[in-house]
Amino acid sequence: MTQTKLMKNRISKKAASFTESVIREMTREALKYGAVNLGQGFPDFAAPEDIKQKAMEAITADHNQYAITWGVKSFRDAIAEKSKRFLGLDVDPETEITVTCGSTEGMIAGMMACVDAGEEVIVFEPFYENYAPDAILSDAKPVHVPLYQNANGWHFDKDELRAAFNENTKAIIICNPNNPTGKVFSHEELEFIAALCQEFDAICFTDEIYEHIIYKTENDETQDHICMAQIDGMRERTVVVNSLSKTYSVTGWRVGYCIAPPDITSAIRKVHDFLTVGAANPLQHAGAYALSLPESYYQSLQKEYQSKRDFIVPVLQENGFKCEMPQGAYYVMTDVSNFGFTDDVEFTKFLIREIGVAVVPGSSFYHDKSLGSQKVRFCFCKKDETLQAAAERLQKLKANG
Ligand code: GLN
Repeated sequence: MTQTKLMKNRISKKAASFTESVIREMTREALKYGAVNLGQGFPDFAAPEDIKQKAMEAITADHNQYAITWGVKSFRDAIAEKSKRFLGLDVDPETEITVTCGSTEGMIAGMMACVDAGEEVIVFEPFYENYAPDAILSDAKPVHVPLYQNANGWHFDKDELRAAFNENTKAIIICNPNNPTGKVFSHEELEFIAALCQEFDAICFTDEIYEHIIYKTENDETQDHICMAQIDGMRERTVVVNSLSKTYSVTGWRVGYCIAPPDITSAIRKVHDFLTVGAANPLQHAGAYALSLPESYYQSLQKEYQSKRDFIVPVLQENGFKCEMPQGAYYVMTDVSNFGFTDDVEFTKFLIREIGVAVVPGSSFYHDKSLGSQKVRFCFCKKDETLQAAAERLQKLKANG
């Protein structure tokens, strides 16, 4: 067919300005080359039997049509109850909760509900890769503040954070415990951020999906997870984004939620309604059950991940990766400068194709790709035998070196 007139540019500037997810691309590469997948953060073990059973029962009981847009009542009630039980927060399930399709939708719906074009949103870097397209799709102007690593873990420079705030700052995004660094924000750090949010009238979006995956300290002390909404003066300016995915090992269910003050919640509910109408109805019923599980469920989850972390991190260190023990979440960011590759993407290709282990290149967590060029991220939410297989394959690096 001859083209007679010039076609309009069919791809929007927004869509053209970000790339496909590198994390998800690495899963496809792992499958293609038969590599052990320590890239994308999803468990390769079975989801809990009782939670699956509840989902099947909900389908059988015919909870198969649209749920109320902002979420099944019993699930919202369970979210409110769990927020009280673990965080001491009083949350009104009628006016302060929106159930979304995963925390992914929760974050973008939250940003679209709150941020106007050109308003600044502060993001710690390295960041979970979704936050960059989230900023573009919501027309926000991202402002990056670096996290630095030393022997005590990752931290930010207080002066740099303060300098990033101004009258055009609409919000800050934190991910706590943090993907990809494993950082757990301390009470003191959260208070510092909170004071800036209050001084500059900014909102805090806090991605809390790893809230139950926090490790004991070297001295075997339990670390507490503190949610930004618990900090004085922050409840009314915090959007808590959370989901079933990581805590209950059901990343494919796509059931998440936002907890926010009523005015923000009603805006989020409108955005959410027209984006997706609602999250899967039967899975929300199962979610109501999952959120009511006793303390022992969370303790054994913590223990499982603690042993996986304590196995894989020394393996990485022995094989030439420079890294520290993460304090939370199930990732470890490593420095790969020992291996002499020009960049992280080349090194990742080599790891997948020649060594047989898939990771995520560090550059996908930075706005300036060069900052991640000597880093790769491993995830360890995998069966012990998967981690063992990865450990055996990584031995080949010694032979290569
Ligand atoms: N949060 C997970 C990760 O960082 C999975 C991301 C995703 O694919 N949605 O790997």
